[in-house]
Amino acid sequence: MFLELRIFFANILQAFLNLIYNQKCLVCSCSKTDDLLCKTCSKDIHYLSSFAHRIFDNIPFYSATLYEGSIKKLIHKLKFNHRKKAAIPLAKVLFKYFQSIKEKKDYIIIYPPSYFLKSAQRGYNHMFLIAKEFSKLTNFKVNHKLIKKIKYTKPQYKAKNRHKNIQNSFKINEKELKNINNETILLIDDITTSGATLEEIIRLLKEKNINNIICLTIAKT
Ligand SMILES: [Zn+2]
Repeated sequence: MFLELRIFFANILQAFLNLIYNQKCLVCSCSKTDDLLCKTCSKDIHYLSSFAHRIFDNIPFYSATLYEGSIKKLIHKLKFNHRKKAAIPLAKVLFKYFQSIKEKKDYIIIYPPSYFLKSAQRGYNHMFLIAKEFSKLTNFKVNHKLIKKIKYTKPQYKAKNRHKNIQNSFKINEKELKNINNETILLIDDITTSGATLEEIIRLLKEKNINNIICLTIAKT
């Protein structure tokens, strides 16, 4: 009886707090949650197996989930609806998956940067936010400056055009190379489709003799 009463009051308190803070699920907007995702939307995230789904030039590519359901909506909210908070559950998904594949190494997190005008237009770089949250969870440092985007690339949905589209659009920031020692590069991204963006960055890193790299994306199409 006592326990039931406690649960009853805990529920009332939670409902009250939700009312004050207006905590709503980022995906379905329901109020039945004290977190950024409600239980139903969290359950909709299905993790992939902890094996590399492809290898490119000896570099393994891992993806936590498929680009569908809650994940698709979260990425969309972050990129197009200015819901910066969506970076938090997305980083958590990346972290949860990463724990299943992790080998004990020192890592430095990097991510494909946006073209500066693109970030200016959105007001933020969504991958910057995800990398920052992921860094808090892993305690790995992020290097925000190692890769620069020097050319605007239109989003391309046809896989065969992607590689051509992305060529020469990134550059290594030479000054930052001294900050990479024996760490393995953990190259993260939100979605991978053809892998062209990540492959281009790998190519540039290898040109600078950086060969210890793993790629990790939240979702793959
Ligand atoms: Zn929900």
